[in-house]
Amino acid sequence: MSWRDTMCGELTAADVGRRVTVAGWADTRRDHGGLVFVDLRDYTGKVQLVVNPERSKQAAEEAHDVRNEFVLQAEGEVVARAPEAVNPNLPTGQIEVQVDMLRIVSRSTPLPFQLDEANVDETLRLRYRWLDMRTERMQRNLRISHVAVAAIRRRMDELGFIDIWTPSMTKGTPEGARDFLVPVRLQPGNFFALAQSPQLFKQLCMVGGMDRYYQIATCWRDEDLRADRQFEFRQLDLEMSFVEREDVLDVLEQCVVASFEALGREPPPRPFPRLQFADVMLRYGSDKPDLRFGLEIQDATEITRTSKFGVFAGAPVVRYLVAPRAFSRAELGRLEEIAKEWGAKGLAYLVNDGGEVRSPIAKFLSEDELAAFTGEPNTTTLFAAADEATVARVLGGLRTHLGRELDLADREADSFAWTLDFPLFEHHEESEGWTFVHHPFTAPVAGDEHRIESDPGGVLGQHYDLIWNGWELGSGSIRIHDAERQEAVFRVMGMDAEEQEAKFKFLLDALRMGAPPHGGFAMGIERFVALLAGEPDIRQVIPFPKVASGSDPLTGAPTPMPDSVLEELGIKSAVEEGGGRRPV
Ligand code: ASP
Repeated sequence: MSWRDTMCGELTAADVGRRVTVAGWADTRRDHGGLVFVDLRDYTGKVQLVVNPERSKQAAEEAHDVRNEFVLQAEGEVVARAPEAVNPNLPTGQIEVQVDMLRIVSRSTPLPFQLDEANVDETLRLRYRWLDMRTERMQRNLRISHVAVAAIRRRMDELGFIDIWTPSMTKGTPEGARDFLVPVRLQPGNFFALAQSPQLFKQLCMVGGMDRYYQIATCWRDEDLRADRQFEFRQLDLEMSFVEREDVLDVLEQCVVASFEALGREPPPRPFPRLQFADVMLRYGSDKPDLRFGLEIQDATEITRTSKFGVFAGAPVVRYLVAPRAFSRAELGRLEEIAKEWGAKGLAYLVNDGGEVRSPIAKFLSEDELAAFTGEPNTTTLFAAADEATVARVLGGLRTHLGRELDLADREADSFAWTLDFPLFEHHEESEGWTFVHHPFTAPVAGDEHRIESDPGGVLGQHYDLIWNGWELGSGSIRIHDAERQEAVFRVMGMDAEEQEAKFKFLLDALRMGAPPHGGFAMGIERFVALLAGEPDIRQVIPFPKVASGSDPLTGAPTPMPDSVLEELGIKSAVEEGGGRRPV
């Protein structure tokens, strides 16, 4: 006898009269003194089992012991429910199964939380993820993930990309994060790094004539965990030869559309808007603005040059936002804290409280300034006065915060866009030299090549980011395919020939042996799926994620290793029992 011949959630009125065998979990059990009702659940849904002692004594006895989340098998007949018992909220609500045989296949201890409980502590959910996975939310999310990834794979295959495996244990690619290191027993003192991305291997595949590479690649980055970051995550990683930027963007847009279609959703219109980095930084203070609401940054630098308010007059740049609410003192205090987190010294404001202006700085401002900056009644003008980058960070941070806090975004809208034309380099705060914006392998835009070393700050890169509703879904670029240019970029980053050799000889060698022009992209799968699923963070779409402390509540990892194991690896722990650091 097979375990089941029908799925619980698929039974309808058309099945009335059928004999069926179903198997799954007891979602609820209601004992009506004589009759026992069990909602039996599998991944397709629930069906009501009715156990009647007059119909089956065996089933009635077995049903007596059933508790929530026991695994059951039942055999019986599909019958129509009496009209007053029809449940319009349940897809199978028109029918029930009159049970002839019931079997407890497997029991459950009392549960640490009920599956239908709201707001279960997340660590508890993760500790018992196998229970959490049975909830509708997790079932749905992991299935959305599957459907999207399958659609992407299909489209990549149709577009002629081939799936090539690249190593996880490698030399570490500079993608801007710390590496996770892997000690090597055969070479004590030497370490592999877990790949932050397959970046250089995919470029080598292009030099190897593979033409179109892709992989749903796992990447490891030692960064603080956040709503959109985990130590390990997957990305749709791709690389293409003999292409221009638009060819790469087209492939990504096709993958997004294919995923939407596979999920039965209206895909976003193509082509996605193309935004200029310099422009979005000015208007939204961010390279990944949420475009579902306006709240654009406005410039006040010209008008405030001669301001009597010294902070404005003395600042290189003064800009502001007009928020659609007259904030209270307490709210402004909180906004000031946020502005300070983003680098502001304070937060100047003008509240238009139903026509009356409240502001400690109003007395310093001229008529013209007040007229220009005061918003409509019931708004607050928030200023940032500092250098260009700080002003963008502060107002960009406030804009994002206000968008969320005041619920400004149109939730029905999906706003996909590309940010293009990033600078190739930015100032490196520690070394005071230059560092890459994307990664060191990004090509400058045509025409800027010859300024790489003479004017690094003025060079734009062929780098592009994909954004969706304010989340960065991924980045890519057209790469440098010429060893000399690559060396020039390394030099700007302060790497002398010796260091270049030590770190990147393999890449430079490859670029000297017939490298085709190439470019690619990587899109974060978990971010994409979280947004597809309407989830606020990526943990909700990852089967077994870690929590903010960097631990896995389920297995308890990471755990200390015995000294004997460390010794074999040539490692001496500098951490004492209890977590303190041993003096070395
Ligand atoms: N390797 C880059 C990343 O992981 C993506 C790319 O440039 O293709 O962000």
